[in-house]
Amino acid sequence: MRLLLVEDELEMATALTSALARHDAVIDHVPTLEMAISAIVDKMHDVILLDRQLPDGDGIALIKHLRDRDYQVPVIVITARGTIPERIGGLDHGADDYITKPFAIEELLARIRAVLRRPAQRQPIQVRIGHLVFDLDGRQAAVSGAALDLPRRELLVLEALVRRQGRTVLRSTIEQAVYNYDDTIQSNALDSHISRLRKKLADASAGVEIHGIRGVGYLLRPCP
Ligand code: CA
Repeated sequence: MRLLLVEDELEMATALTSALARHDAVIDHVPTLEMAISAIVDKMHDVILLDRQLPDGDGIALIKHLRDRDYQVPVIVITARGTIPERIGGLDHGADDYITKPFAIEELLARIRAVLRRPAQRQPIQVRIGHLVFDLDGRQAAVSGAALDLPRRELLVLEALVRRQGRTVLRSTIEQAVYNYDDTIQSNALDSHISRLRKKLADASAGVEIHGIRGVGYLLRPCP
């Protein structure tokens, strides 16, 4: 089990990390929203443990960022803000659960197990289009059983298109899925990724095509 802990209080983070590690969890710890977004792009996590009062904003903003991009990873909000309106606000914004400091590690573990059991929260693990199979959990692409070896950014572009297959995906949506907030995006970078992806998909006989809509975005669909 891999967890992402977004928490700026070092003492709290250290205590939680060592307690969870004793329960066979791998913990990636980041102290800010911005670093959380990078960590989410880098690795797949089973659950995100999210503090609300962070140096660069309210943790709730991260939930909105994830849900806007169809990332359904369960989020448990960990916070000192435990009043009822704040709990309801967190849940309304897409948090899966809410736990108020201080809490017993056993209670947190029970809540983690509970959110992992909820089948409605999980995305279909594999998406098939043409001969392409995209594993959303492991973030891997394969064609007819052979892994398609793609650099990270091309893989993320393909994932953004796969998650919305058959629909036009705006350039800005793809760019947000691929780049962190602080990256400088070259205006033609996305087009370069797309043209390399097209060639690799064609070379692998993936049976899918990336259709471009000038100035708007791209759409992934099976070859006619
Ligand atoms: Ca805090």
